[in-house]
Amino acid sequence: MGLSKTIWTQPSEIIRTKQPDHPVLVFSPTALQATARRFLKGFPGVVTYAVKSNPDEMVIQNLVAAGVKGFDVASPFEIDLIRRLAPGAALHYHNPVRGREEIAHAVRAGVKTWSVDSRSELDKLIEMVPAEKCEISVRFKLPVQGAAYNFGAKFGATADLAAELLRRAADAGFIPSLTFHPGTQCTDPAAWEAYILVASEICATAGVRAHRLNVGGGFPNHRKMGPAPVLEDIFALIDRATTEAFGSDRPILVCEPGRGLVGDAFTHITKVKALRDDTHVFLNDGVYGGLAELPLIGNIERIEVWSPEGFERGGDMVERIVFGPTCDSVDRLPGDVALPAELSEGDYVVFHGMGAYCSATNTRFNGFGQMEIVTALALKG
Ligand SMILES: *Cc1c(COP(=O)(O)O)cnc(C)c1O
Repeated sequence: MGLSKTIWTQPSEIIRTKQPDHPVLVFSPTALQATARRFLKGFPGVVTYAVKSNPDEMVIQNLVAAGVKGFDVASPFEIDLIRRLAPGAALHYHNPVRGREEIAHAVRAGVKTWSVDSRSELDKLIEMVPAEKCEISVRFKLPVQGAAYNFGAKFGATADLAAELLRRAADAGFIPSLTFHPGTQCTDPAAWEAYILVASEICATAGVRAHRLNVGGGFPNHRKMGPAPVLEDIFALIDRATTEAFGSDRPILVCEPGRGLVGDAFTHITKVKALRDDTHVFLNDGVYGGLAELPLIGNIERIEVWSPEGFERGGDMVERIVFGPTCDSVDRLPGDVALPAELSEGDYVVFHGMGAYCSATNTRFNGFGQMEIVTALALKG
């Protein structure tokens, strides 16, 4: 047995050479580092990475190599992961609800930045976290649309409550800041503008100058056909809106992208197990595996079909119903999916832009979900 090849050229080479029976996620460190540098160069403030979107160690290591120095963490596991892989990095514990044992764990790990969206959780932080050099960011929400789904449904205080919490955090000796999340895959930059304006109003109501304003994640990745969203346009709008809203009281900006950083760094290879009576496509992965997000935020349009020999299928497109491998009837992609008419059993359906919320939400339900992660130089072809 020779050494196994560990870095592939591109997805079609993996298909041709391995003809894998299990789902394969292909990671391009080059693509990830390029996106990270776009954020670091273009975003007018501090760039942190939302670990939950993809906690793979290779991802963290490549972000650190590209220069990312802060991480948004939500659990003791994520805190320990980042402390091990990036010992000097800043940890932003931005899950606004925590158990007391979780708070104690984070204090021991040296967490200095916390978010909060309620009186009861602020009481816990004031009681358990030494205020000195510690920042509390009040998370607020607005009823604005623009994203793939509404993040305000679970977390975020109203503007009035946020002003009260900001005042209390400042009075308790913490560094007062504000944070929001416009919702994931936010393709309408006007959402950020609306939030930033309200952030300045919250500060005015509270009579508190915010030290930092964290504009969340929500930066979109490339899911639809057509040109990719232009991150730099969103950065420019955030920059302008902050100056307009705050003037000389402008806070330091922070962002915490998950999807926008890692989404386009992975391509997902699935196999056609069956083409049932020329109608239904059954893949070896579905909504209990790497495709969990599709019913929540819509199908990815950037799909290709490859033959086992590594030739791309073309020709007319046919709308088909696509099922995952489990025996559960909800295991299907939303609506119909346009796929080349030539598609055959044994072909590979390749989904681009699958770096976020794909490996992280994979389950072993019904005995499926044996997902392999490999590395490639490029994700095209
Ligand atoms: C999930 C999450 C993020 C990342 O969101 P994306 O839409 O993936 O960019 C950022 N901040 C917080 C607090 C989150 O919960």
